[in-house]
Amino acid sequence: MKTKTSKLAKLERNRKSILTDDLKHCFICKQSPVDIHEIYSGSNRKASMENNFCIPLCREHHQFATINSLFNMQLKRLCQTKFEETHSRVEFMQIIKKNYLE
Ligand SMILES: [Zn+2]
Repeated sequence: MKTKTSKLAKLERNRKSILTDDLKHCFICKQSPVDIHEIYSGSNRKASMENNFCIPLCREHHQFATINSLFNMQLKRLCQTKFEETHSRVEFMQIIKKNYLE
């Protein structure tokens, strides 16, 4: 079985989010406890972690992000918008390989 690299494990322990400094409360409803939701998952999971593209969500909203594709898309757009306040579209495309804003 393949184990996680130590670099990835370290990233997982030291999570940060570009969307909020408060990783203890749900970004939507402010409740706790929360899970850290990876905004761009799948093949973008590592890139997402390295660039702090995550968001704290309570169990209910985390579940909602999993089953509701519209809400999921809104989170992706929100995160890209935030990133592009300080970076270019080109930089975003280099990281995630997809533009969610058009
Ligand atoms: Zn919530």
